[in-house]
Amino acid sequence: MKVNTERLGGDIQLAIYRIGAAEAWDLEVDNGSYYYVLDGEKVNIEAGPDEAERIDRTVRKVGDGILSQDFEPRPSPGVCSWCDYRLVCPAAEA
Ligand code: SF4
Repeated sequence: MKVNTERLGGDIQLAIYRIGAAEAWDLEVDNGSYYYVLDGEKVNIEAGPDEAERIDRTVRKVGDGILSQDFEPRPSPGVCSWCDYRLVCPAAEA
């Protein structure tokens, strides 16, 4: 399997794990890895220089949306095509 590591570098999930591990265990974490167990592949992703700021900004934006109950659907064919709710969602795009 060919993994797009450039795209994964901006991935928020792994970055949140890195920041959480650093804060919870007082570790210096400058990289992380995704394991594709079916393919037996490990993909190492380095932390970006502005990662903590980027994650903080994103988490606050999402948190503000949740607190203001902004649950307006934002359909797109790329996301809706694999969404588990597409069969019952009135905003789903094919
Ligand atoms: S199907 Fe509905 S809930 Fe799922 S991604 Fe699309 S708009 Fe969002």
